[in-house]
Amino acid sequence: MPTPAHSTVAEPLTYRHDAPLAAGTLVRVPLGRREVLGIVWDGALDAPDPALAAQVRPVAAVFDALPALNAHWRSLVAFAARYYQRALGEVALAALPPQLRQISAEQLARRLKRATRLTEDAPAPGRPPAASESVALTGDQQRALAEIEHESGPFLLFGATGSGKTEVYLRAAEAALARDPQAQVLVLVPEINLTPQLLARFQARFGDHAVAAQHSGLTPAQRLQGWLAAHLGTARIVLGTRMAVLASLPRLALVVVDEEHDASYKQQEGARYSARDLAVYRGHAEGVKVILGSATPSLESWHQSRPASGDDPGGRYRRLAMPGRIGAAEGGGWPRVRRVDMGHQPKGTLIAPPLLAAIQERVARGEQALLLLNRRGYAPVLYCADCGWKSECPHCSAYRVFHKVDRSLRCHHCGFAERVPRACPDCGNIDIGAIGRGTEQLEEQLAALLAGVQRPGGEPVRIARIDADSTRGQGQLEAQLAQVHAGEVDVLVGTQMITKGHDFRRVTLVAAVNPDGALFSSDFRAPERLFALLMQASGRAGRDAASHGTAEMWLQSHHPDHPLYAMLKAHDYPGFARLQLDERAQAGLPPFTHLALLRADARSQGAAQDFLNAAAQQARQDFAADPALVGAQAAVRWYPAVPLPVQRVAGVERAQMLLESPSRAALQRVLAACQPLLHGLRADGKHRGVVRWLVDVDPVAV
Ligand code: ADP
Ligand code: ZN
Ligand code: ZN
Repeated sequence: MPTPAHSTVAEPLTYRHDAPLAAGTLVRVPLGRREVLGIVWDGALDAPDPALAAQVRPVAAVFDALPALNAHWRSLVAFAARYYQRALGEVALAALPPQLRQISAEQLARRLKRATRLTEDAPAPGRPPAASESVALTGDQQRALAEIEHESGPFLLFGATGSGKTEVYLRAAEAALARDPQAQVLVLVPEINLTPQLLARFQARFGDHAVAAQHSGLTPAQRLQGWLAAHLGTARIVLGTRMAVLASLPRLALVVVDEEHDASYKQQEGARYSARDLAVYRGHAEGVKVILGSATPSLESWHQSRPASGDDPGGRYRRLAMPGRIGAAEGGGWPRVRRVDMGHQPKGTLIAPPLLAAIQERVARGEQALLLLNRRGYAPVLYCADCGWKSECPHCSAYRVFHKVDRSLRCHHCGFAERVPRACPDCGNIDIGAIGRGTEQLEEQLAALLAGVQRPGGEPVRIARIDADSTRGQGQLEAQLAQVHAGEVDVLVGTQMITKGHDFRRVTLVAAVNPDGALFSSDFRAPERLFALLMQASGRAGRDAASHGTAEMWLQSHHPDHPLYAMLKAHDYPGFARLQLDERAQAGLPPFTHLALLRADARSQGAAQDFLNAAAQQARQDFAADPALVGAQAAVRWYPAVPLPVQRVAGVERAQMLLESPSRAALQRVLAACQPLLHGLRADGKHRGVVRWLVDVDPVAV
C-alpha cells in the first residue's frame, strides 16, 4: 500500500495498488472528487488491517514509464519541508514541473519517447571543441581550481567582478564531466534576466543539448522538457533560478551558486526556502562539492568561511580569493570612487555640477554612463500644500507613486492604480505637487540638463531608462539591454536591475544618485545589501581593460564620510564585513544567532497581533511543561508581536513576531512544536479575524 503525498495534506496518505510500487514512483490518485498527481513516499506497509484496507482507495494510474525519484531527492524534499515548516506534499509537488499534474500516464509516456528520441538524434553529450584550451588561466584561477579539486568544500569563491569566476565554474564543471561523462552539474543564478548570458557561456562550452534551463520564465512545455532532461540524466548542466535547487538530478556531481549573496535566492511565498542554503545541504547530503561565488558574499557565508585563528577552529566553508580583475595591473582595475557631499549643494540638487560635468565629458568621448536610483516612477508621493492631502493608497499603509508616463497613481504594494486627479481630492486645490524623485523624473530632468551636449558625431545625447516599468512586456528587457550593448544609448538610468551581471563594455562612469536611504534602515541587513549593490554597480564601470584607468563610481551622499562609503572607496569588502560582523556580534544578530518570524495576516492589526501573542503565551506555558521541549524553549527568545514595516497591504493587516536563538536546533524544535499550536489557535473562534499565518525560517528581511 503505497502512500503518496499531496500538497494540501501535511502527512502522506495511504492508497492501495495490486503490485508493490517503488518509493519515488509518480502516480495519479483520487483525492476527494478529484484525481491528482502523487508521489509514492514509502513502499508497501506491512500487514494491512483488513478492515482498514477496505476503505483505502486504489491508485488510479502509475507513471511507470518514468524512473522513480531517487532517495536523495526525496530526502532533500523531506528536509526542506521540515526545516522550512511546510507540508511535505506541498514542497514535493512544487518541485515538479506543473505540467506533470495535468497529463495522463499515456501522454507522459509519449513525451518520454520524444525526449529520448531527441537525445539520440543530438550530438553525443560530450565536450564540443571547447574554447577553454585557448584561455590561459590566471594564477588566482589556477589556485582556486586546484583547491576545488583537492579539498572537499563547500567553497566560497570570493572573486571580484570580472575576476574570472565564471571561468572557474566552467572548468570545475569540465573536470566533473571528465571524471564521469554521465555526471550532472547544477548551476544556480539569482535571476531569470541573468540566465541567458550564463546559459550562452555554458552552451558554448558544453554544447546546446547538454545544457537545460529551469526557471519560471519558460513555458510549461519547456519546463517539463528541461525537468525530464535533468531527471532522465540527459542534461549534463542544469542552469536555473532558485527553483532548480529542487531539480531531480540522479548523477549530481557539482553544485555552483553564482552571486550567492543575492536575496532572490530566498523564496518569499509558500515554502520560504533559501536555495543557497539548500544547495549547501544538498551537496553535503549527496557528497558533492559546492561552490558559492560572489564579489560581496553574504555575511553568513563570509563568517562561515573564516580561517581558523587562535581558539577559533574557523568556519565550515573554504574561502578561495580572486582579488584581481582580468586584464588589470596587480591590485588595480577598480573604478575610482568619488563622493559628492550633497550637504554642500543647493537644496533640491538632483545631479551635482561636478557629476554632471563628468557625465558630459564621457558622453562627448562616446563612452556610456550609468545612473542608479533605486526608486521607480516619477515621484514617490503627490501632495497638496493647502490641506496636506497625500496620495495614500486606500488599501495599504503606503503612498501611491506618481507615474507621469501614463499620468497614474500606482500602489507598488497592491497594484491599485488610478488616474492622477486634476485637483486635490480633499480641497479642490489644482496646484498639487510631487515629493521626492524616481527614475522617470531622473530621466526627464537629465534630458533637460544634457540638452546641449553632443556625442562625438555631433548627434544629441541618447538617454534610456530600465526598471520594472520599462520592462513589463515580454522581451522588453532583452531589447533594451541589447540597445545598451550596441552602443545606442549614452546615459542609462535605472534601478538595481541595471547593476546585475550585465557586461557593458563601454560604461566608464557609474553614479548612485541617492543611496543614503539604506544607511539608517530598520532592517539590519540594509547596509549589507547597499554595499553589495554599490560594489556590483561599480563593477559595471570599466569592464573593458582599455578603460580601467579612467573608470569612475560616483556617490551623491549627505553622509560622505560614512564608514560604508569609505570601505567602498577602498574596495574593501573584508573591511566592511569586519565592521558589520562586529556590530552583529554585539547586537546578537545573524550569523551569531538564528532567527525565525511568525507572521499573521488579519482583518485588523489587533487581531493579527493577538493571535501571535496568544501563540507565544501558550507556547511558553506548554513547552515549559513538556520535558521534550523545555530545554529548547529556554534557548529561544520570543519578541512581542509588531506590525510589519508596511503594515497594511490590499486591505489586510500584517503583524510579525521574531523568534531568536543561539541554537538552530532549539529554534527548529520550537518551530515544529508551534505548528499544531498555531493550527489549534486558528481554529479557535477567538481568532476568526486571522486570514492566514506563516513561518519564515532564516528570514532575509526583518
Ligand atoms: P566574473 O564571473 O568573476 O565576473 P568572468 O568569468 O565573467 O568574471 O570573466 C570576466 C571576463 O574575463 C570574461 O570576458 C571572461 O571571458 C574573461 N576571462 C576569464 N578568465 C580569463 C583568463 N584566464 N584569461 C583571459 N580572459 C579571461
Ligand atoms: Zn488639498
Ligand atoms: Zn495599495
